[in-house]
Amino acid sequence: MGIEEKLPAGVLLTSVEKLVNWSRKSSVWGATFGLACCAIEMMAAGGPHYDMGRWGMEVFRASPRQADLMIVAGRVSQKMAPVLRQIYDQMAEPRWVLSMGVCASSGGMFNNYAIVQGVDHIVPVDMYLPGCPPRPEMLIDAILKLREKIMYEPLGPNGRKMLQARQERGDVP
Ligand code: SF4
Repeated sequence: MGIEEKLPAGVLLTSVEKLVNWSRKSSVWGATFGLACCAIEMMAAGGPHYDMGRWGMEVFRASPRQADLMIVAGRVSQKMAPVLRQIYDQMAEPRWVLSMGVCASSGGMFNNYAIVQGVDHIVPVDMYLPGCPPRPEMLIDAILKLREKIMYEPLGPNGRKMLQARQERGDVP
């Protein structure tokens, strides 16, 4: 009996997807993008005390072309918005965005003309982290949750949409 008959349909493909996602989530490299006070906590999280090397992400990359994850740490000014978008566009797919702190997520206390009222007006956000500022433990928790999302993301250009549909159906966390 051939392997195709022994295995239920799709098992082999699912395994490839899992292997790829496992390697992706095990080497998420961050782009350095500190904008304000939240960045101090992000830098603390990158220090030896928190040892992010446990998850294969001890390096933050100065070049967006070598990074998978943009952590937007701090409020985004209108002047910085096009720069942020350009850096995002320079990152290779697949790429993820984590909005760190209330200012990045919604403008926070800076409800004025100079600050973008949420970085999701500029780039798609995969994970929102509340707090002012979030502690390094909170950032690490958000990264671990993002890693779970990466693990369940179907391969291909519509992977994000399919993941969202799976989450709405309750098939994945
Ligand atoms: Fe600063 Fe708080 Fe805004 Fe973070 S959320 S950038 S700590 S004011």
